[in-house]
Amino acid sequence: MAVMITDSCINCDACIDECPATAIVSADNAPVAGAEHTYVKPEKCIECVDSAVPKCADACPTEGCIVWDMPYTESYNDYYTQSDNYVIRVHKKKGLMSPLVAPRPYRENITAETREQHVSVGETLKLYN
Ligand code: SF4
Ligand code: SF4
Repeated sequence: MAVMITDSCINCDACIDECPATAIVSADNAPVAGAEHTYVKPEKCIECVDSAVPKCADACPTEGCIVWDMPYTESYNDYYTQSDNYVIRVHKKKGLMSPLVAPRPYRENITAETREQHVSVGETLKLYN
């Protein structure tokens, strides 16, 4: 990832068009069965590393809704491929777009502890100001 959208999402979909990586889809288009809220595809999220702040969290009206998840890197391959929270895309030629096959950029200043605790992105925005 990545960032993750949590149960407090009100499905306003304001974040979808803001994502520079087209990583966010509405609940209806989420790949997980029975999705009830907007979903971030971790295999696409780049944590907005080239921007001052993650664009989705900046656009979201629901405080604490978007939280940090683990980096989409080789070390977290099992985390993402064996999770109930995610269904990773299968590319026609490359196969499963796992962290092993296609790692994504991530913000190194967000600690593993912050990610494990799924701290809200909004709470950490001050790090970029
Ligand atoms: S952090 Fe950036 S790249 Fe990731 S889902 Fe949010 S807007 Fe998209
Ligand atoms: S902007 Fe926030 S509340 Fe709206 S769909 Fe995205 S994550 Fe959910």
